[in-house]
Amino acid sequence: MIGALAALFVSSAAPDIHVNLDTSFASAVLEEVCSKTGIDEDAIRASETAQIMVDHFHQFRDDFTMDAYVEARRAAANCETPERDIFRFGEVIERREELRADIALLETRGEEIGDTITDMLGAYTPAEISFAGAATVVTGSPSCGGWSRDAAFFVDLPCLKGDHDGLTYLAAHETYHAIQSRFMPEPPDSNEALSIFSEIIREGTASVVADFSEIETNGAYTQLSQRVIKTNDRRMDANFDLLNMAFFYLSKSGDPEASQKTEAIGLSGFFDSPFYAIGAGMTRVIDSAYGRDALLCLMAATPEQFFLAYDRAAQETGETRLGPNVMDAAKKNSTRKTAASAKACF
Ligand SMILES: [Zn+2]
Repeated sequence: MIGALAALFVSSAAPDIHVNLDTSFASAVLEEVCSKTGIDEDAIRASETAQIMVDHFHQFRDDFTMDAYVEARRAAANCETPERDIFRFGEVIERREELRADIALLETRGEEIGDTITDMLGAYTPAEISFAGAATVVTGSPSCGGWSRDAAFFVDLPCLKGDHDGLTYLAAHETYHAIQSRFMPEPPDSNEALSIFSEIIREGTASVVADFSEIETNGAYTQLSQRVIKTNDRRMDANFDLLNMAFFYLSKSGDPEASQKTEAIGLSGFFDSPFYAIGAGMTRVIDSAYGRDALLCLMAATPEQFFLAYDRAAQETGETRLGPNVMDAAKKNSTRKTAASAKACF
């Protein structure tokens, strides 16, 4: 009885998070592919997943329209690949048996995967937050990169090539971004330094929430992610130097594109996202020096306070310090008010 009461107390203090793995869309598409029974056009047009996908990709190319998507589904149902296969149904048709088996396996693991994601997120979410999200697998989409809308994250199943652990961690990383937007401040776009700080904190903490180095299976996406982690571990001091150089360039070059260039080099996969790794390293140092509550509180503060707190922890623990140009930017943005709100985190 006492145990049950204690459990009740603990669960009422924990954040209320639910993430479902949704395979229904992919499963319906796969059932239709090569069935030669035609399509339910109204149902396709009414599908929220199809609408979000078309909306997302329409930003990049005008020909990603619902009409084009409906025609691609019609052709795929007839086992035909259109000449311009923008929704990549050729691969879906070719691998349909394998993908059906993959979905069946994923369905049996659905609850376990949802619980794993929920646990990962719960450990880094303030207690007062409740969140309901979904990770949806899609077949027949324009690209291997995932996309999100609010609390929903979408990813192409054929691209994952059966890497279900990779899917779990990827979904946790992306879903954590939706949780961050519930409690982290959005710095003004006009403040380049704070925008970059904020992105480093968001990507760094998401990388710690879903740490791919924990995965023991060796799916393709997992291997890629683990290689990136190893590369960045090896060159961590150089990553900090690079960040310092970027802040020198941002403040001194007068280049109107300095901020975009910094993001392209530091915060994209182009160079294995060195600033994601810095953010992850900062997160771990703050977490072990000051504790989880302080970490979450600093994430909710203005971004320069997270950087200043890291540098103080690094000084105390002998970790790599932030370079002088990064510290200048952090100090310049710190005000009496933001410093006081961060002080309350300790
Ligand atoms: Zn991310």
